[in-house]
Amino acid sequence: FICQDTALDSIARFAATMSSATGSEEETCLSRNQSILYRKFSPHKSSSYLIAKLRSYEELHKRCGPHTNSYKRTIKQMKSGQIDHNSTDCKYVVWVGLAGLGNRMLSITSAFLYALLTNRVLLINQEHDMVGLFCEPFPNTSWILPEDIPFRSEVRRFKQKYGHSYGKMLKSNTINYSTKLLPPYLYLHLSNDYDHHDKLFFCDQDQALLSKVPWLIMKSNVYFLPSLFLMSSFDQELNKLFPDKETVFHHLGRYLFHPSDRVWGLITKYYQDYFAKAEKRIGIQIRIFHAETSPFGSVMDQILACIQKEKLLPEVGTGKSIASPSKNQTSKVVVVTSLFRGYSDKLKKMYGEHPTKTGEVVAVYQPSYVGRQRSYWNSHNMQAWAEIYLLSLSDELVTSAWSTFGYVAHGLRGMRPLILYKIDRTIPDPPCSRGVSMEPCYHAPPIFDCKAKTTVDTATFVPHVRHCEDIRWGIKLF
Ligand code: GDP
Repeated sequence: FICQDTALDSIARFAATMSSATGSEEETCLSRNQSILYRKFSPHKSSSYLIAKLRSYEELHKRCGPHTNSYKRTIKQMKSGQIDHNSTDCKYVVWVGLAGLGNRMLSITSAFLYALLTNRVLLINQEHDMVGLFCEPFPNTSWILPEDIPFRSEVRRFKQKYGHSYGKMLKSNTINYSTKLLPPYLYLHLSNDYDHHDKLFFCDQDQALLSKVPWLIMKSNVYFLPSLFLMSSFDQELNKLFPDKETVFHHLGRYLFHPSDRVWGLITKYYQDYFAKAEKRIGIQIRIFHAETSPFGSVMDQILACIQKEKLLPEVGTGKSIASPSKNQTSKVVVVTSLFRGYSDKLKKMYGEHPTKTGEVVAVYQPSYVGRQRSYWNSHNMQAWAEIYLLSLSDELVTSAWSTFGYVAHGLRGMRPLILYKIDRTIPDPPCSRGVSMEPCYHAPPIFDCKAKTTVDTATFVPHVRHCEDIRWGIKLF
């Protein structure tokens, strides 16, 4: 039988061999078919409407993707300046990323949902640091922005104050809702430092204008997707696509992000080394944002308090550990991911030197401890992606507040996480608790009511959007 998960996850219609997202070397994308051996079936059913939408998106991408006749036609038009803004020909949204991998994956997912809703083709501006992380998600085509695009050399320079920036043009009144002569492309600044005019992207009136522009180039590092659920233009379609609002990232993330063969090699190796024989797999992700307000001892106490409160791991006794050949011992494996090694060392020592009160055996591992975030290093992003995926294979997952790295892991896993609240010198009480939804948090949402033209708390707009558990001004679907 084909379970729902497989329908989205493996896309059975895919040819056995796909080119990787590097666009050059051929690779098989082993993860697409093998993930089923490692990952639990998703208990969350995707709507048949979503599946049909993805199939028709794949057709669109194949027809309009790089190097197709339709693509060449739009490039020619862009070069000649002869644009028919009312044409039904292919339109595009180009994602330009920044920040860490978790942020990027969340903003790509947001851009993809925007592409689905507006019948645009999503293309990714792939800098060196992103090469070879993911398989191509769409069959028989590529999502990588080709080199021959006329604005190629400008991509890195696109900024909020750039000439083609939509927000800037609105501010200076070089564009308005009655402008007839629209440019062939516009830049949308959707990063955490965006201003009021950039955020007008989230107004229905602005979407009516943007729908006529063939190329939208979007720089983003945020999960802006929840704000699409606040717009009446997309409301009906989103309800059909996602009857269960809590699973949007879960479904789209599993559909889009398949580890490349190289990353898959790392994941399967870690899995065999750590998780394969365990009876219970526990992932703990520890992200420290401010070392001064998060001293090692306090964070460690918080983790131990969380483990105890949630009964994730057994308590240890005071005696010395004696290796026992007993067959009845159950085993729990903890995979810790962190830039630093101290936390896992402490847990390792604790469970290595003392017997547990229940007699269970606990092993603790950490795949890497690289010390510093280096998101512009390709190998660093590969390691990060392998660890995010590994966490998503755990039975129980504890993630750090504020961290998009953690959001992606629990979203792919398909489980409400245990959130370690942000520490501010003192240990929060409770130290952790279960999230109300497995959806990621949008850290920097607009607070503007486009109709009333006033500031508003957007978490009160619709029943399925609320403030996040970990960031009080953030919003999330639930
Ligand atoms: P966020 O900053 O926690 O929201 O997550 P991001 O993924 O956007 O950025 C953090 C980046 O730092 C990651 O992408 C990694 O490059 C690196 N990083 C942070 N924590 C870890 C970790 O536990 N393991 C590894 N390998 N890298 C990490």
